[in-house]
Amino acid sequence: MKLTDLRSNFSPSEAGEQMHRLMSQLYPIPRSITGDGIRETFRVIGEEIPLEAHRVPSGTRVFDWEVPREWQIRDAYIRSPDGEKIVDFRDSSLHVVGYSTPVDRRIDLDELRQHIHTVPEHPDWIPFRASYYEDNWGFCMSHNRLASLGPGMYDVRVDSSLEPGYLDYAECHVRGELDEEILISAHACHPALCNDNLSGVVLAVAIARLLLGTEHRFSYRFLFIPSIIGSIVWLSRNEDACRRIRAGLVVSCVGDGGDFRYKRTRRGDTVLDRAAEHVLTNSGHRHSVVDFYPYGYDERNYCSPGFDLPVGSLTRSSHGTFPEYHTSADDLEFVKAAFLGESLSVYATLLEVLENNGVFVNRNPKCEPQLGRRGLYNVTGGLKEGRSQEMAMFWLLNQCDGTHSLLDIAEKSRIPFDVIACAGARLHDAGLLVEGSA
Ligand SMILES: [Zn+2]
Repeated sequence: MKLTDLRSNFSPSEAGEQMHRLMSQLYPIPRSITGDGIRETFRVIGEEIPLEAHRVPSGTRVFDWEVPREWQIRDAYIRSPDGEKIVDFRDSSLHVVGYSTPVDRRIDLDELRQHIHTVPEHPDWIPFRASYYEDNWGFCMSHNRLASLGPGMYDVRVDSSLEPGYLDYAECHVRGELDEEILISAHACHPALCNDNLSGVVLAVAIARLLLGTEHRFSYRFLFIPSIIGSIVWLSRNEDACRRIRAGLVVSCVGDGGDFRYKRTRRGDTVLDRAAEHVLTNSGHRHSVVDFYPYGYDERNYCSPGFDLPVGSLTRSSHGTFPEYHTSADDLEFVKAAFLGESLSVYATLLEVLENNGVFVNRNPKCEPQLGRRGLYNVTGGLKEGRSQEMAMFWLLNQCDGTHSLLDIAEKSRIPFDVIACAGARLHDAGLLVEGSA
């Protein structure tokens, strides 16, 4: 019996560096929920993994929503009374409020202030703001710079367009033996912000690359979408495909040094929920597990009652809880390669549990079989690892009556799943276990 083994196919530190490099490449692209920025993002991702691009025209009805107009941004700046450019979109795409309508005016400081956003508690940071569904315009800048502005007339210019166009999203399919799917969903619509959400994008890419080079049972579907509207659009076009989803993870905020955090599915007791809790408990990392709540990222659409998909979310610091969230401080320095590498390891461990979680029957259920004769007892001369393998075998031989999965046995025995799975494979190869339920 062959176990899916993802973790031996990468080194977390090298994979972390690789993810960070891809993030650096994506960072300067001025993304939004539509427009050339998100398309360019998909083009870059498409150089790493096979991507299928999709586009949906503005105005298309998607459940209770409508696909918005396409926003293009070419330039934006504020020029002070003495002619100096005090805010320039070319320095940072965060400087202009996402979906700003075109503006070309000369206004006084009081009026200008009404269109400026800052982070007063961190006066050097630039906030991220967008106004997708209400026509508006504005700039984001550091509080200190705003405080330094004197009276006078300011030239403000936003060279943007909001026209009927398309909403783009991209999918990567990685076929496994089964049609049943595992969904990995990352939003890819934020401008120059790293933890939220480029870390999720590069982690999804890394997992796809890993699976492309490894034998595995489930098929995988990776979604790169604009946040919220993207999952609404995707769900409206893929109701049939949803029936194949056995587990799903919304990936975001996986590159900071915060504790791991698993947010349960709406049902709360799916195999994914149990596997995630088991993996985090045995990971040695500080972590928390929280119940589903109908906010956060796209899980709120996947878990809406009309779909109720087994989709959870595995992150580190969660949205809105770290000071750098949605500000210029969520940058390439804030996200570290080492943390990305750790997150990839945790995701890979979790996917291994889902992949390898089978149900077996003991073919020799009357009293314990003689393990020594089969070379299975004390094989490593009483080493710690050997003893845990033996203990795992005793648990398996006792519990494999066709009603308990390997994950059930791992939970009950408090032995890590990979130890149970490895012992299960050895018992299977020795002819003592067969696959199948009672
Ligand atoms: Zn966000």
